[in-house]
Amino acid sequence: MSFLEVKDLRIHFPTDDGLVKAVDGLSFSLERGRTLGIVGESGSGKSVTSLGILGLHKGTRARISGEIWLDGEELVGASPERVRALRGKKMAMIFQDPLTALHPYYTVGEQIIEAYRVHHNVSKAAARRHAIDMLGRVGIPQPDKRVDSYPHEFSGGMRQRAMIAMALCCDPELLIADEPTTALDVTVQAQILDLMRDLQREVNAALIIITHDLGVVAELADEVLVMYAGRCVEHGTVEDIFERPEHPYTWGLLGSMPRLDREPSERLMPIRGLPPSLINVPPGCAFHVRCDYPDRVGERCRTEVPDLLQTGPGHALRCHLDRAERRAIWENEIRPR
Ligand code: SF4
Ligand code: MG
Repeated sequence: MSFLEVKDLRIHFPTDDGLVKAVDGLSFSLERGRTLGIVGESGSGKSVTSLGILGLHKGTRARISGEIWLDGEELVGASPERVRALRGKKMAMIFQDPLTALHPYYTVGEQIIEAYRVHHNVSKAAARRHAIDMLGRVGIPQPDKRVDSYPHEFSGGMRQRAMIAMALCCDPELLIADEPTTALDVTVQAQILDLMRDLQREVNAALIIITHDLGVVAELADEVLVMYAGRCVEHGTVEDIFERPEHPYTWGLLGSMPRLDREPSERLMPIRGLPPSLINVPPGCAFHVRCDYPDRVGERCRTEVPDLLQTGPGHALRCHLDRAERRAIWENEIRPR
């Protein structure tokens, strides 16, 4: 069994307008030391998946089914207390906005000390030394002084680092980062990504990066899972997804990615239309209303949900187009020259 195994995960939210199927039958696995990028437009279920793995929907109205195995322990059926005990220590999350994780009324040091002492029976002084050490490791200058600063006294990039220090203070074996760099300027982004890579290497953690930024994925991930309307539509190695992508939605994401090697005259090609409502997911292939190729398949695109099928070693795909046709379209019509 892999270090992390997610099997047929469903996370549905009852609302006044109907059932929101935010995640609808998601399966994947991840080994220690590996990085998985989960990509897709907003509303595709990426963030809901990460909160689900961390057990943060427990006790809410969400209906959760399926299995999440972390290091041999099943979490969907586990008690909220058990999952809370694992959170922070065994698994941790870096949020998009550091202010969702850092409390404004406590110093950065107090918050790291608290997070550490929840899981370790050590003195305050020892925990403080650990907090200073962590702040130093994430590149905060003069950590012995900055440990007593409040979050608002830090710049955006420093707050992001402080939150990473807090997420990593107990050496989590699974780290989930949700849009970790979106709010930061390019230089700080690069530093934060380097930092996550170094720290991952140090503790051999499994890392999940959730983002709509394919550049970040190309930089950091070993594997990529493409989500659309709460389901995985393509999953493969980073080479599979960038060199031989097979799903029309993946082609669309790649086509709308800014690239340095592209001529300024080659305009970006956004995917037409909008992501579907998760209350009324289109029948058949959920992407068919935006896809350019259902005519090459026929009625099935509109009536039959494609299965997620293996198309190569470690490469899986959910699309009715036949293999020869997919490859021909990619080679002749889509692939950048
Ligand atoms: Fe397009 Fe049909 Fe493939 Fe869906 S199944 S992505 S509609 S070709
Ligand atoms: Mg999100």
